[in-house]
This record gives sequence, C-alpha cells and structure tokens, in this order.
Amino acid sequence: MTGAKTKEDLLKKLKELGIDFMENQNMSSYSSIKTGGKADLILFPRNEAELGLIIKLTEGVISECFRYVVGGGTNMLFKEERIWVPVISFKKFDSSVLDVSDDYQNYKKCGDKVLKFGAGINLSKILNYSMKHNLSGCEFFYGIPGTLGGAVKMNAGSKESSVGNIVEAIDIFDLNGSKRTVEKKDMNFSYRSLNINGIKDNYCITSVHLKLKESSKAEIAENIKIFKERKSVQPLGEFSLGCIFKNPEGFSAGKIIEEIGFKGVSFGGASVSQKHANFIINKGGAKPSDIIFLIDNIREKALESRGIKLDTEIKIV
Ligand SMILES: Cc1cc2nc3c(=O)[nH]c(=O)nc-3n(C[C@H](O)[C@H](O)[C@H](O)COP(=O)(O)OP(=O)(O)OC[C@H]3O[C@@H](n4cnc5c(N)ncnc54)[C@H](O)[C@@H]3O)c2cc1C
Repeated sequence: MTGAKTKEDLLKKLKELGIDFMENQNMSSYSSIKTGGKADLILFPRNEAELGLIIKLTEGVISECFRYVVGGGTNMLFKEERIWVPVISFKKFDSSVLDVSDDYQNYKKCGDKVLKFGAGINLSKILNYSMKHNLSGCEFFYGIPGTLGGAVKMNAGSKESSVGNIVEAIDIFDLNGSKRTVEKKDMNFSYRSLNINGIKDNYCITSVHLKLKESSKAEIAENIKIFKERKSVQPLGEFSLGCIFKNPEGFSAGKIIEEIGFKGVSFGGASVSQKHANFIINKGGAKPSDIIFLIDNIREKALESRGIKLDTEIKIV
C-alpha cells in the first residue's frame, strides 16, 4: 500500500478498505469542553491493521496527523483554525481485554496479573473490570474520563499514583507504520507526560499492558474512597478539560489562580470554575479563543504577581 496522492484518492482507498471516516466535522464533538474548529477529515481505525493502513496512506502528512490523534478528547483543546490533515480518532478503536500473565511469570508467582487492553478502552471500563475481577492498582482511575491510550500519553493520575506506575509495556506504531512493543525500561514517565527513549512524540499507542494485584472487593472499595472525595470538589457535571495547569513544584495551581483573583472570572462563554479554580468551563457558546484568553491572562498574572510560571497540562492544537 502506497500513500494517497490526493484527497479524492485517499477517500477512494478508505472506502475500498472499509475504513470509517467523516468529512467536515466540528471538533467540538471530539473534545469534552465542547468547542473547537472544523476538521476536513476524521479517520476512525478500529484496530491495528486499519491504523497501519492509515499511516501508510497518509505518509506525506502523517507526522502532522499524529499531532491530532484524539482519544476521548478530555485533555485536548482544538483551536478555531480548520485542520487540513486527517485527524485520527480512537473513538472506535479496539477496547478488548486479554490476560497475558503467562508472559510475566515472575509477577504471576506473587499473585499479580498483567492484562493487555486495547488503547481505545475507557478508564471507567477498566476500573469496572478490575472491581469485578478483584484486581487492585487502578483505583485512581475513578473519575478520570478518556481512553487508556490518552491516559498513558498523559501519564494521567493523581497525587497517589499515575498510569506510569502500573504500565508494563505498550504497543505502538511509529511514523513509518512499523509496529513495536516498548517495555517499561524504555518509558520515562514524569508529571503528566511520557517520553519514550529514541522516539519523540511521533507514535500511536495501540495497546497497553497493565499490572494489577489480586485483592478483595472490600479493599478496592476502601481504596476508591479517597478518589471519590477528591472528585467531589471538581465541577464534573460541566464541560471542561479537567485541570488546565500543572501544579508547579510545591504549589497548587488552583490555589494560585484563586489567590490572584481569577476564580469565577468569565470571558465570552468560558469561565474559571467557582468550584475548582484550575478548571475552565464552557458555560455555553465558548470559543477556543475565549479559553485561550483566560489561560494567557492567568499565566501572565501568576508570573507578574507571584513570580510563578504556570504550564498547561492540556494539549492545545
Ligand atoms: C472532568 C475531568 C476530570 C479529569 N481528571 C483528571 C485527573 O484526575 N487526573 C488526570 O491526570 N487527568 C484528568 N483529566 C484529564 C484527562 O481525562 C486525562 O488526561 C485522560 O487520560 C486523557 O485521555 P483521552 O483519551 O481523553 O486523551 P485525549 O485528550 O484525547 O489526548 C490527550 C493526549 O494524548 C494523545 N493521545 C490520545 N490517544 C492516543 C493514542 N492512542 N496514542 C498516542 N497518543 C494519544 C493526544 O494526541 C493528546 O496529546 C480530567 C479531565 C476531565 C474532563
């Protein structure tokens, strides 16, 4: 399979191969803050084989396409500008679960299980699965929306734990459409980020091996309590992207935003949440530029009045 030469050629090949796509889509439907510009074309691979074909078909623009890989879109803000390269959505991607503990004999002896999940599975489904099968280790997924692929890329989590602590290996596709397994030793997880040795940001995660521990329902329910409490102070019923800024070393970004007077401040349809100042919510009709305006102003004020540089946790593309 060689790359498509024109858009018409690409659409023709996608149809022949039975790969789902949609044209002229509003990215607001693909981001949990419910705003964004338009995308010319969105592709919906269902499995590794289809993703591999897509990478080959889009070979001239694939490094650009990788900027617009979207899982649940719960941490992505799409700007107003039209996206001309194909967006790759994991909405319909594999969400299977497979017990691969036999490949990890040393863990098996200690009562641990290693499960392989398709990257399209939602964290809430993994948590439900682990509760049903008495497996502990991913209780911190409670209340975090989105897919496992996105969570690994973001090293999603909380103070207590993050995805990097339970990942054993991931399967990825690189820019050339080559598939490979990356083991824990080659993954550098840090605060809300993952760097893979030898690869920049140019890869798609297709499946993830998670290590979980055999436990009891009572213990799992007890472990979840702290995350339930934490989530009760977040505006979960509103359209948002979770925390906008990373917590600077030794500080809480939410507290800083409150102290510099931005709690409840609105611009256009966007507003800094009254419930949790590190959340910006779409009250209705917010434009991406309204959100970016608030972000820029908060950053400026934090630097000017507190000497603190706030970095965004969300991805603005
Ligand atoms: C209400 C709310 C609460 C939240 N609470 C938390 C929290 O407690 N802790 C926390 O850490 N986060 C939290 N978040 C942020 C977000 O849910 C997590 O970062 C989540 O893991 C992102 O997953 P996603 O599938 O939505 O990723 P997306 O937002 O779709 O993408 C995030 C990044 O990952 C990339 N990506 C997505 N899928 C893949 C893939 N398969 N391969 C390669 N790259 C990929 C995207 O290109 C993008 O750069 C919250 C968000 C909301 C809206």
